[in-house]
Amino acid sequence: MSIQVQQLNKHFNQYAALDNINLDFKDGELVALLGPSGCGKTTLLRIIAGLEQADTGRIVIRGEDASDLHVRERNVGFVFQHYALFRHMTVFENVAFGLRVKARRIRPNEAEIQRRVKELLDLVQLGHVASRFPTQLSGGQRQRVALARALAVQPKVLLLDEPFGALDAQVRKELRRWLRDLHDELHVTSLFVTHDQEEALEVADRVVLMNAGRVEQVGTPAEVYDHPATPFVHRFLGSVNLFHGRVSEQGLGIGDQTLSGHIPAHLLQGSAAVAYVRPHELELSPEGSGDGLSASVERLLPMGSRIRVELRGNGGLNGALFEAELPKEAVQFLKPGQTVRLSARQAQVYPDYEI
Ligand code: ATP
Repeated sequence: MSIQVQQLNKHFNQYAALDNINLDFKDGELVALLGPSGCGKTTLLRIIAGLEQADTGRIVIRGEDASDLHVRERNVGFVFQHYALFRHMTVFENVAFGLRVKARRIRPNEAEIQRRVKELLDLVQLGHVASRFPTQLSGGQRQRVALARALAVQPKVLLLDEPFGALDAQVRKELRRWLRDLHDELHVTSLFVTHDQEEALEVADRVVLMNAGRVEQVGTPAEVYDHPATPFVHRFLGSVNLFHGRVSEQGLGIGDQTLSGHIPAHLLQGSAAVAYVRPHELELSPEGSGDGLSASVERLLPMGSRIRVELRGNGGLNGALFEAELPKEAVQFLKPGQTVRLSARQAQVYPDYEI
């Protein structure tokens, strides 16, 4: 186990920023800390780094209790959202910095520094801009220099706080893929903070979902997306349609209609429940063709090979809005204004505390 976070608590005045966090990060994995603004991701990262003290709990790095170690002794590399490169230093000197400030007895000699920096700049594909200054680089290039600089001291752990947050969508996408490739090559245990679910699901080996200072779920991208442990995770990881009703033998009773599906055993007959259905899990069939909830088609929005269908629920659905996403071929029969039957290929049902 590379990093263990044990029973960590952190308050800011009365506010619990972290509430009993327990996590294990394996050697060489790339993990995303994902959650909405203010959920405690950055605080957790800063405590692991040693930039912030926890109230209680321990951080163990490679078997060694690091809770009382100074930042410099933890051997972690950081990359933050706003690339803190030294403006007066060239790209080369920025990357060399961490090596040059090492204590003399562990500092590599000049030839070794030259070799290592060159190797890192090649790795981040920036060898050709080594003698430029940060202001002469694009945002994405600066971020790659920041990564090379963090890697120069051969950290045991790499911590990245919204590393691509300040960049535009296209560059973000490129850097994501690039970070994944870099990680596959180096295998440094890396944790990165993001509030972007797509980024987390696309890049990470595992995702830690946080909400209000707590961990809601930890799992691979497929596990958390396909089997969300809580309604929060379900909502946070993508759009979802909510169907409020009461548990019946056949599924979820909504007015005099039923949404069929699996109801977890702990939900009692007649209790208030809510079914979560992702847009691609909804199915539409022509009216009169069988079971399903009645809804009217409001709009059809083409999205490449798929179509997004906006619908308004009839009867017990009380005019609620729903969104389905289907392959074009599956909805050729649809027109705005038409009444259809809605059913769910898959639905996850939770107790409904909102009723
Ligand atoms: P964001 O994505 O917005 O950066 P986050 O998940 O990283 O959010 P944190 O920065 O860890 O959240 O903050 C967690 C909570 O602790 C927030 O409510 C924040 O206001 C509070 N907080 C963080 N740092 C301090 C501080 N130094 N003093 C007081 N409150 C703080």
